[in-house]
Amino acid sequence: MKKVGVLGAGQLGRMLALSGFPLELDFHFYDTSGHPSVGLGDITIDTTANLENPELKRFLDEVDVVTYEFEHLPLQLTQYIESKTTLYPPSKSIEVCQDRALEKALFTKLGIPTPTYQIVRSLTDLESAVENIGCPVVVKTTTEGYDGKGQFVIRSNDQCDTAWKEIGDRTLIVESFVEFDRELSIIAVRKENDEMEVYPLAENDHHEGILRFSTAPAPKLSPETSELARTYIRELMHELGHVGILTLELFETKGGLVANEMAPRVHNSGHWSIEGTACSQFENHLRAINDFPLGCTGAKFPTCMINIIAEKGDINSIMALPYAHIHLYGKEERKGRKLGHITVQADNLEELKWRVKNVASFLPGCPDYNLIP
Ligand code: AMP
Repeated sequence: MKKVGVLGAGQLGRMLALSGFPLELDFHFYDTSGHPSVGLGDITIDTTANLENPELKRFLDEVDVVTYEFEHLPLQLTQYIESKTTLYPPSKSIEVCQDRALEKALFTKLGIPTPTYQIVRSLTDLESAVENIGCPVVVKTTTEGYDGKGQFVIRSNDQCDTAWKEIGDRTLIVESFVEFDRELSIIAVRKENDEMEVYPLAENDHHEGILRFSTAPAPKLSPETSELARTYIRELMHELGHVGILTLELFETKGGLVANEMAPRVHNSGHWSIEGTACSQFENHLRAINDFPLGCTGAKFPTCMINIIAEKGDINSIMALPYAHIHLYGKEERKGRKLGHITVQADNLEELKWRVKNVASFLPGCPDYNLIP
């Protein structure tokens, strides 16, 4: 039996393992956070990320390939692992995706539209960038930001000081504020031999910075827009020499697609693929990194994934619904925490909307489900 080593031990690792067991894969998780929630496979906890740690050696000796479910890892650690064994996706993908400056530079190099941006390292730099780009702007930390954390929207020049105090004292990226119609994401998988498969785009609805609904295939998407997104992600994967799943988040605007950011891993906006396709993002990731044939990525039905945030709600009532697939992650309830998700399918979009609203009514604090009109 082949053993996959996974850096990180949260719900993404859990869903990787759940899709890997039927392929006769075994798992060993290496957790650097001190709070593994994966609940499956072997787990090593090492919060030191010390390359001399004998636990790391034991982990590397035991596994056939290493992957990760979290990209904010010390580069020194991933490069070390890459020098000892196969790391997929390669550390170049981590290096680029964990730094918004490198990510934006790559989009620009490949001619993928992205917001006008400037990198700043001081309050004076920030003030002149805001002056150049013009308000409103979105200011973000170049590293470690996620789910809207480490961000500040500057609406007038006199807010620079507050923004710098709140998230500054480190390198920031200042981006023009994009007036988008909706947020989309595209997920694709690549093997070492450049073979690729692409999933249909998903429409993503965020509330308070956290993803709440992903609908796939994204409704009312023109074939040209879809084809453009497919081209972008193929070019990105090829350029990075990426192996495994890559996710690209996009804004759809009146003027076309604008790239926001990438994740070199399975993504929350791809959870719909577990029930929605013949081969989920988790399974295809494992197939790619183990050099197995890739699986079919086409959508079977209109599908919506609803995140369960903070409270589990009336799960028993949701269990009684014949169209709701429940995935709980084994986590305690806590404000803002992703505790699980529910996948809903229907024969058509109208039926899907009705079913999603029904499921949402059992989830406390769940916002309204409003697809693009
Ligand atoms: P991010 O961490 O870059 O994915 O940003 C989190 C959320 O902030 C995105 O999902 C968007 O809703 C919003 N956002 C990020 N960048 C911009 C931008 N340049 N213009 C408008 N909204 C943005």
